[in-house]
Amino acid sequence: MKYETSAGGVIAARKNGRLQVLLIQDKTGKWTFPKGLIEKGENLSQTAIREIGEEVGIKHLKLLARLTPIKYLYKWEGKLVAKTVYYYLFRNGGTEKLAPQREEGILQVRWVPWEKVTEVVGYPKTNLVVLQEVQQKLLKLKLLVNKKP
Ligand code: ATP
Repeated sequence: MKYETSAGGVIAARKNGRLQVLLIQDKTGKWTFPKGLIEKGENLSQTAIREIGEEVGIKHLKLLARLTPIKYLYKWEGKLVAKTVYYYLFRNGGTEKLAPQREEGILQVRWVPWEKVTEVVGYPKTNLVVLQEVQQKLLKLKLLVNKKP
């Protein structure tokens, strides 16, 4: 078994008074969060910040919280790869120009309103767990309010 480690981010911003989350459309067409492989000499949050800069073009990131890592398996050239992704929750102003890294297979990048994220995001087995924890953190930080019926 091969092992791989990546780091990335869930980036939140308030735009027009609404909380939004940044999603990338990966080479398979699924919407997910930016991330990438750790490079020599980097710690995980440095990897996350570098990869976000490369994949979506935004630089101003305020680290809000560390999230529980996700794990998944996939096959590459017939071999099983066990992957761990360390995600961080960041805040951004929401006004920086988005620049999808097309040469790395990022098809699109967009801000998605919080209320729509769970219906747009792909890889629900891993990403819905991430979003659940993000919701807890955003409530605690008072960036989201719990709307009671
Ligand atoms: P990285 O972005 O870390 O450099 P990569 O683009 O080489 O990595 P992945 O995005 O991990 O590779 O994709 C490898 C396989 O895992 C693909 O089949 C992809 O569809 C699948 N995959 C990607 N993200 C997830 C996820 N969050 N949960 C489950 N499977 C995923």
